[in-house]
Formats: sequence, structure tokens, C-alpha cells
Amino acid sequence: MHLGHGGRPCPANIALATQAEVADDVEEEILMEAWEPRDKRTLVIVDVSRIHQLMVSWCCCKGCPDYETQLFEHGLFPASTTRTSTAFTFSVLEYFHVDAVECKTSASNFSNKLR
Ligand SMILES: [Zn+2]
Repeated sequence: MHLGHGGRPCPANIALATQAEVADDVEEEILMEAWEPRDKRTLVIVDVSRIHQLMVSWCCCKGCPDYETQLFEHGLFPASTTRTSTAFTFSVLEYFHVDAVECKTSASNFSNKLR
């Protein structure tokens, strides 16, 4: 998922990516918990349909918005503001809100339902 350039890769990020070290110690064979990002470049995105893990290419242009603002601009709500690794789509937040108000669904039960 490319952020900041209408779905196209950020030219500044491409230059940075070629210089960056890529960690190869990801243990793919382990059955991963859905909420744990696969690696530092992966963002866990919680949507109505399921919990996704997507590699994210942030915009790194000079004067670009911070990561959280970039997520907001793409309809995603970050779960934290420090080292964001999980984000919720606005639609899953709306769905949870209705579910919680109308059906008294707890966050824990809603989380289990998504899994
Ligand atoms: Zn950019």
C-alpha cells in the first residue's frame, strides 16, 4: 500500500528503500497472530472483512505529513501514535460503534468475531 501519491510509490521512499537494510530474519513458518505485524514494514489493518497485513510504503517527501496523518488521509485510524503498527479502517470503527450500541458487543467479542 503506497501512501501519499495517489496509490503510486513515493519517489523519495524508493530512494530510501534501496539504501535501507532489509531484515531477513522473519520466521515465515510460524503461525502468526493476526494482530502481530509480520515485520517492521508491515501494517496490520483491521477491516470489516478481516484483519489484513499489508506492506506499507510511506511518503517520505520533504514536508510530507507524519505517518498518522498519512493514515488518516487514506481512511485509516492508527491504533497508537508511537510506532504505528496497527490501523483500523473508518468502516470497521463505524461497524463496531453500531454493534456496540445496538448489540452491546464488547471490544473483546468484536475482536474475536473479526478473527
Ligand atoms: Zn512522497
